[in-house]
Amino acid sequence: MQALLMVGEGTQEIADIPVPEVPEGWALVRTIASAAGLFHTQMVKGMLDTGGLPRILGHEIVGEIVEAGSPASPPAGTLVVADAVVGCGVCEWCIRGEDSVCPWMRHLGIDLDGGFAEYSLVPESNLFPLPSDIPIAEAVMLSSALPAAVHAVTRVGVTSGARVAVSGVGSIGFTVCQVAKAYGATTIVAADVSDEQLAAVEPWVDATVNVGDMTPTDAATAMSEAGETPHGFDIAFETAGHLSSVETVIAALRPGGKAMMMGICDGPTAISFDSYLAQFVRREISLITTFGFTRRDFLVGNALYLGGRLDLSPLVGPTVALEDVPSVLAHIEEHGTGGKRYVVDVGMAG
Ligand SMILES: [Zn+2]
Repeated sequence: MQALLMVGEGTQEIADIPVPEVPEGWALVRTIASAAGLFHTQMVKGMLDTGGLPRILGHEIVGEIVEAGSPASPPAGTLVVADAVVGCGVCEWCIRGEDSVCPWMRHLGIDLDGGFAEYSLVPESNLFPLPSDIPIAEAVMLSSALPAAVHAVTRVGVTSGARVAVSGVGSIGFTVCQVAKAYGATTIVAADVSDEQLAAVEPWVDATVNVGDMTPTDAATAMSEAGETPHGFDIAFETAGHLSSVETVIAALRPGGKAMMMGICDGPTAISFDSYLAQFVRREISLITTFGFTRRDFLVGNALYLGGRLDLSPLVGPTVALEDVPSVLAHIEEHGTGGKRYVVDVGMAG
């Protein structure tokens, strides 16, 4: 089979390798599509441990079951999306349903081979059937982008009536706005420095603010005014991964509010306050982090999308061939993704 192998830091190559043998409890899937984004540029640079090389990247997998052993598995020929998180299933976190923080967790496309190949191995319990008429370019988003947003929205406790601010509306922030709305948030204000991305998210939010030339304090004030929340927001999501955005969301919260930190800030990071007591402690601000998602988040994301509560089409970027992924990643590294997910066509023609 044709596969794109990461063979060293910064190096990937197309190779012809044998179709893998299927271990017990796993299924062989003919890969139809995967996705490429900023995360893969970080993977190729060696930011995350691949558990050995060569490694087939691609943590999003939509495909068709070729071979599965368990009678409970969807039958051969079924269109499926794979949950990329492979918890150990044994430890106390997995038993509690917190598989995203399982210390023995492995991940398809990171430390297990992923979807940048004509065939993929997936644990049978990680396969979920999809309707055969689902748009494939949107289905790849069910693998990771959508459940990650569901996890963050669930963890921070968005409930009916919540007043929510979202700083940064790339693909993650965009999805967070939609999921927060589906969870019953009544006020959602989105902030970004890109008019284009703010325009894309407009149908899903109550107000947008371009915070391009503002200080964090001014940005927080502008967001509160736009959302008519004079005492601040119940919940604020930071998805941009910039310190100014972190300071903005903390300033935008009401007393007792919760900040969900989704972005990854580069390098040594410190949050500073003119008055730690007055701006942070006295207001009982909570900082909550998120990493990956659980099986439950995956199922909730699928249900929200298939139930027509979300529109993932604005996130669909260009479709690219497997052999073009290295040059696409170089392009993304330099120019970003514009809030889109590149769809990797592995076998869309069938
Ligand atoms: Zn575990």
